[in-house]
Amino acid sequence: MAEFQRFRTLWQRLNTRQRFILLQIILFASAVLPLGLYRLSRGEIGHAVFDGVLLLILSLLVWLSLSDRFLDLATRIMSITYVIGVFGVVYLMGEIGLFWAFAAGLGSFFAVKSLEALVISVVIYLLIVWQDFGGADLPTMITFSACFALVAAFGYYFSSRLWQENERLDREAHRDRLTNLLNRRSFDDDLALTISDGSPLEHGCSMLVIDLDDFKGINDMYGHAAGDRVLKGVAEVLERTIPKDAKLYRFGGEEFVILCRESIEDARNLGESLRLAIGKADLLRSSDRQITVSIGVSERRTEDDSRSWFHRTDGALYRAKQNGRNQVAIA
Ligand code: GH3
Ligand code: MG
Ligand code: MG
Repeated sequence: MAEFQRFRTLWQRLNTRQRFILLQIILFASAVLPLGLYRLSRGEIGHAVFDGVLLLILSLLVWLSLSDRFLDLATRIMSITYVIGVFGVVYLMGEIGLFWAFAAGLGSFFAVKSLEALVISVVIYLLIVWQDFGGADLPTMITFSACFALVAAFGYYFSSRLWQENERLDREAHRDRLTNLLNRRSFDDDLALTISDGSPLEHGCSMLVIDLDDFKGINDMYGHAAGDRVLKGVAEVLERTIPKDAKLYRFGGEEFVILCRESIEDARNLGESLRLAIGKADLLRSSDRQITVSIGVSERRTEDDSRSWFHRTDGALYRAKQNGRNQVAIA
């Protein structure tokens, strides 16, 4: 049950591309696996080995596509696997293997960007021509060529629109409009994932909650538009200053959160650097008034759940405010 819950959290955290890729892998694997077993049962070892290698690549791709860092690599390998797959299947099975070209050509439109996928389709087609269409007769060659060209054209048309829409939806769902930082929803998801994943504890795993001091006063004195500019400016300073592997979110209003793989001492130092950087930045365009922030810091404990960890960090922030603002407090 706990495993299922973990799987659900993981799936929800995946972006649309990752889900597409995994779906394709599952579909292809469920087509290739029974075929491979069938070949094996008939003693067609060459075919079975080919299917086995495809399955091996597919499992590698599952692992790669789960990580944000390797997702692009995974999608490229996926496309190349399509090309090799079609080549192999036409080589081994002749004309009947041509059917796979449709699935592979279309599949690559869901894996990589539209233009790349179009190139993949052209390469698939050229390789098929090179293999004399697996020995097909002329009417089959012409019919296949026309159908394949149509499929590629449809694929290109729909996928370029789909990519644009996906990017827009992804941005709307996970980013904050004003600052373009990850939003509260992303924070909740990432926090749940960090909690469900026990491993980072040994390397240190800290949270910083950052709140602008007397921001209501800034809005009142300089206007809401100037307040918005300050929020954008703060977001830029934070983004510039945090380590590469830290994640920054606009939690809401004038509050920001950072999740990072730092020990509590390093996280406190990071908080101090952020506080100083914001204090130094000219966020109110030459006004005498300085923007300051209060920061609460805490390290994750083994017994923490999302709520308790955030609550503790927020408590530290509250103390920083109580003690006079413009400071960092540790939970
Ligand atoms: P404290 O030092 O205790 O944090 O005081 P504060 O004034 O910063 O805190 P308070 O919670 O009283 O006020 C937060 C203000 O932030 C109120 C709200 O109008 C303003 N605010 C929230 N979101 C935005 C926004 O997107 N743009 C602007 N300009 N102001 C915002
Ligand atoms: Mg606040
Ligand atoms: Mg505030």
